[in-house]
Amino acid sequence: MTNVFERLGAATLINAYGPMTRFGGGIMGEEVAAAMREATQYCVDMPALQAAASRIIADVTGAEAGIVTSGASAGLLLGTAACVTGLDAAKMNRLPDLTGMKNEIVVMRGQRNSYDRALRAVGVTLVEVGVSDRANGTGIRDADLSEIREAVGERTAAIFYLAKPQALPRLTEVASLAHELGVPVLVDAAAELPPLANLKRFIAEGADLVAFSGGKMIGGPQGSGLLCGRRDLVAAALLQQLDLDYTYDEWNPPPALIDKQRLQGVPRHGVGRSCKTGKEQIVGLLTALQVFARESDRDREARWQTLAERLAGLLQGLSSPSLAARVIADPDGSGIPVVELRLGSARRHVNGREVLHGLRSGSPRIEVNPWRPEEGLLILSPACLREDDVPAIAKRFGEILGAS
Ligand SMILES: *Cc1c(COP(=O)(O)O)cnc(C)c1O
Repeated sequence: MTNVFERLGAATLINAYGPMTRFGGGIMGEEVAAAMREATQYCVDMPALQAAASRIIADVTGAEAGIVTSGASAGLLLGTAACVTGLDAAKMNRLPDLTGMKNEIVVMRGQRNSYDRALRAVGVTLVEVGVSDRANGTGIRDADLSEIREAVGERTAAIFYLAKPQALPRLTEVASLAHELGVPVLVDAAAELPPLANLKRFIAEGADLVAFSGGKMIGGPQGSGLLCGRRDLVAAALLQQLDLDYTYDEWNPPPALIDKQRLQGVPRHGVGRSCKTGKEQIVGLLTALQVFARESDRDREARWQTLAERLAGLLQGLSSPSLAARVIADPDGSGIPVVELRLGSARRHVNGREVLHGLRSGSPRIEVNPWRPEEGLLILSPACLREDDVPAIAKRFGEILGAS
């Protein structure tokens, strides 16, 4: 039996790593897939659809407004553009040429990461503060509030914050300093769901804009995300993403989200036009968000725990002397249980890299989190597995490790 990918000539894989972009994310729930399918059969006014999205996103996040984007990365790009231009159509039309505009984003050096290119794509310069001593294991500080204060000036469009459980200084402190200095805080919370409480948390802590990924654990379309926060900034972000081929007189933007009176003209195709979000993505993300918000963390964890225990049980049942499997209930505060595999024994050393190679070179290919392969430690996540993947993974480990 073949699937759509195989018919196209692209082999599918078993994804025991998690919703990684390079593996196509996860497995979409029926309710979300059905809503997307239904959306394909109609046309709709896109600004009105984003205004409807805004009501739903505001409700679940506690923010003033929100829009669906084509990913958290797109949300960061649009959010940066919004912080630079505000509701000034002339400035929107000039991006990424920032001559005469605010052109700096202050970022804590220890929070620099590969995704912050989305900010630079708008043309801004990242002004780094602090020294990531904590990451080096040699110190106790990353960046001080005083260093952030020092770096913020006339050219500062925003302060960027990567929301990770270990992030310091705390978002509440950074946000209150930012507001004292009159600049917004843009938060990257792409991978911070679950826990459910994080939907509201960063807004409650003072963030002006928060970007979440829709294609990770909330189970939306892989190419989706959401951006929520201050209404004027969300509107500025949306205006730089939409197709706005209207004359000013004929233009009728949804008043709940966009204040037409505050704009001196209709912006041209904006810097975010390349982040177009289709109606199917919007409907899919909103459905996923509602499904996600409906389920308690405990129920979600229990669902994954069951799958993780089945997988760990089958792996342990291989009774290979070179394999020990155990479920770790909550390795990172997200509540997503994982299976930790310890390869090798005192008598027989097993190189994790060889096992990874074996997993990848079989059919179907199996991807797991390499974690610390040299020490024989691999991590398997239940989050993107199909039911029949579980026995298939155990069987492959049995073949590779030569167990019965
Ligand atoms: C995944 C991720 C992103 C990108 O999210 P997409 O929805 O794939 O665009 C950005 N920042 C961080 C920290 C991430 O983990």
